[in-house]
Amino acid sequence: MLSKKNLKSKIFAGALAFTLLVGNFGNKPLDNVSASGKSDINGKAPKYVFYFIGDGLGAAQRQAAEYYVQETTKNKDFKLNINNLPSVGINTTHSLNSLVTDSAAAGTALATGNKTNNGVIAKTPDGKDVTTLIEEAERNGKATGIVTTTRLTHATPASFASHNISRNNENEIALDYLDSGVDFFAGGGARHFLPQGWVDAMPSIGKSKRTDDRNLLSEFDDQGYKVFYGAEQSDSFRNYKPSEQEKVFAAFTGSHMPYEIDRMQNNNVPSLAEITDKAIETLSKDEDGFFLMVEGGRIDHAGHANDLTGVIHDVVAFDKAVKEAIDFYQEHKDETLIVVVGDHETGGMGLGFGKNYFLKLDQLKDVKVSVEDTLQNVYNGNREEYIKYIQDNFGLKDLTQEELKELNKAMDIVDKGQKDEKTYGSYNPVAIATTHILSKRANAYWTTFAHSATQIPMSAIGVNAQAFEGFKDNTEIAKTMAEIMDFKLTEIKKAK
Ligand SMILES: [Zn+2]
Repeated sequence: MLSKKNLKSKIFAGALAFTLLVGNFGNKPLDNVSASGKSDINGKAPKYVFYFIGDGLGAAQRQAAEYYVQETTKNKDFKLNINNLPSVGINTTHSLNSLVTDSAAAGTALATGNKTNNGVIAKTPDGKDVTTLIEEAERNGKATGIVTTTRLTHATPASFASHNISRNNENEIALDYLDSGVDFFAGGGARHFLPQGWVDAMPSIGKSKRTDDRNLLSEFDDQGYKVFYGAEQSDSFRNYKPSEQEKVFAAFTGSHMPYEIDRMQNNNVPSLAEITDKAIETLSKDEDGFFLMVEGGRIDHAGHANDLTGVIHDVVAFDKAVKEAIDFYQEHKDETLIVVVGDHETGGMGLGFGKNYFLKLDQLKDVKVSVEDTLQNVYNGNREEYIKYIQDNFGLKDLTQEELKELNKAMDIVDKGQKDEKTYGSYNPVAIATTHILSKRANAYWTTFAHSATQIPMSAIGVNAQAFEGFKDNTEIAKTMAEIMDFKLTEIKKAK
């Protein structure tokens, strides 16, 4: 007869054997297996693939943007395109060394199917390069594109076409792009492609950040790319009509592209939708089809700055870019796949605050500027002037005594040259005090100036879109994409 102890160890051994038999059961969900037991992936690989990544696009960000449009247009039936796709899933985002990922580790997961440490770009933590979906698309003869509203060398785009132990090595990442074969680059960040000490012919670019004399824009040009740089060349980009098989490199700003809320004021650089449209027009000339990654990169930055309106307008701009892909899908239904993901949530954005049941997003309708790029630069010591400014440009009229107290507290800190990063992050305290006042009025509030570990929504449409459904880790998104495309992501190339 079995003693209790023996029984326990038998059960343990049995469980162990079962685990060995079926593999790493705890970490391997039964992906791509439908109720009938058959793989969800079937038929030919899609010819055209869109991979949309909203940086910092969590569930709250998606819903705030949708409700905002509903409230401000009085159209209660309004749906964001990204919230209206037929296949839906939920993703976990943790990195290898933290439950709260950064965009490098999250980008690496989404681009390569590998977990890595925060800060690492398309490498394992010990420095081995891992293959990216864009590299595999290249190897399979597809046209490829990388579009973003951040610097092109920023973590998310970098994860698709470069390998680096640190996301901060943006000059090295820029060099990787030269050898990447990617056919269409567009975004910001010209400062990492121009030679050191470069004398500025384009006021919108500013100073180079390179520490060598290489002019990568000229090198792209030598490789046959059609090069656009600076906001000054936005219209020639807009009017550009690609002929057969052309390559494009466009960097409209020195650093990031403007926040959508600032961009809307003068339209001086193309919107994410305009760029996506141009990418489709250019890449669809390749008869092997294309793989296009489009990042809404500044949703994240607005979240960091706890800028509710900034988040909303960048989500709406991202959604309009997705609409361009949906329009293309309507013409090529049997050959197109569109996958929309976030890489993590930013800000710990909560749609509800205090002890009530309200969300008042109409409070945001008179906001005309971003917190980080614009509002942050306004306060100059003149309190009256600042209060007038936020009345006119930040929708804050009739400040209460309590709100004025919050503002004055922040102004005291700035006037004395002090810091309080716990309360205001690394931003200007007056700007953060202002955005927090507005968030409180809207009843949406924040838990962090960094990222959060919350699950995030995924949505998809098109060929094999159903394979992305369900509760998945972010690495499974890349793996599922690879399986659909018959790409091989397991290859580890020689470390550089
Ligand atoms: Zn971030």
